[in-house]
Amino acid sequence: MSYQAIVIGAGISGAVMAEQMASKLGWKVLVLEQREYLGGNCFDHLDEEGVLIHKYGPHLFHTDKQRVWDYLSQFTEWRPYEHRVLSQIDGQLLPIPFNLTSIRKSFAAPVAEAMIQVLQERFGEGARVPILQLRQEQDPLLQQLAEFIYQRAFVNYTSKQWGVGPEAISPAVTARVPVVVSEDDRYFTDPWQAVPLHGYTAMISNMLSHPGIDLQLSSPMHTRVQLDWNARQILLDEQPFEGPLIYCGMIDQLLPDSAVVLPYRSLRFEHKHLKQKWFQPATTVNYPNEHAYTRITEFKHITGQDHTGTSITYEYPCDYKPEQGLEPYYPIFTELAQQQYQQCVAQLHQFPQIVALGRLAEYRYFDMDDAVDNALEKFSVLRLRFSV
Ligand code: UDP
Repeated sequence: MSYQAIVIGAGISGAVMAEQMASKLGWKVLVLEQREYLGGNCFDHLDEEGVLIHKYGPHLFHTDKQRVWDYLSQFTEWRPYEHRVLSQIDGQLLPIPFNLTSIRKSFAAPVAEAMIQVLQERFGEGARVPILQLRQEQDPLLQQLAEFIYQRAFVNYTSKQWGVGPEAISPAVTARVPVVVSEDDRYFTDPWQAVPLHGYTAMISNMLSHPGIDLQLSSPMHTRVQLDWNARQILLDEQPFEGPLIYCGMIDQLLPDSAVVLPYRSLRFEHKHLKQKWFQPATTVNYPNEHAYTRITEFKHITGQDHTGTSITYEYPCDYKPEQGLEPYYPIFTELAQQQYQQCVAQLHQFPQIVALGRLAEYRYFDMDDAVDNALEKFSVLRLRFSV
């Protein structure tokens, strides 16, 4: 069998690229996936009790990109789903993002209404204000509000999640969860919000079911593919391979002799099944100030599955240590980590046929829709580069 392209990794990015190369270019594509299942960290499956769970934590699809929505809709039907999150603060469950309801539940009525008025005058009804921006405000009521939200909802959660305070991570990350000047309690505001009706694994499996794609599970890259750094050549089954090689794994692992080791933040998941219909009133409850875990997710809220029991997942953030069986999840934003990443990119210039794609290979914090959009974009570049 001869292939025109190889994809390392059958997650959402690799699946988009493989599907596009097979369907648009008519290429034969070899996809090597080291795990025994496809889907990357979008992988969902029935647990031992038959409840559909997300093995790698809750994945909630949302997008404002028509082309991403149209593209994925070829491979799945959807179940409309708008994500809602509560945060346990001072013994109450408050909507997160912190909104007008959260303010009213946190302060005595006259103070809350005065704060809301200033917020509305300053930012306008419906505004979504990053907490770090709100903290810069001079108005004493806004300062009091910002300080409360920062201290009660952000500082401890972020310290648990990242191991550092909110100022030490990219402002774009805390801005993902703004303060909302309305009663809108949805976590996302994108026009398309839904989950694949039969799950992410089924959707990605459909993407990879193109007859031009040869998917091999339980196949780490090194079992078939080597990089010869001296000859600057890719080898497939020991034969020179002209490429392209789409690499969706950890970029530092491509370099010889662990020349660079990129840091990641990781998560330990504790999955539990309970013999009761429901566990909590929303899909996700955040615990900023108590416990070693950051949040608990109850999957039946997402999937709408009818089951007498319920399955939940606790997320415990930690540093990434492969020897402990952990997975790399979040890239780190320090200058040093970014420099190390650039070192990897520079080294890989020796192999122009390699396209680094997705969260691990591009060392970026992608939402699923951005991962799909990025893969579609990289495909159009690849198509031009390989002039087909
Ligand atoms: N965050 C927080 N408190 C919360 C929710 C989020 O401090 O209750 C911060 C935290 O730093 C987190 C970031 O906002 O990493 C982004 O949250 P999001 O829920 O988008 O994270 P993800 O689901 O991608 O882990």
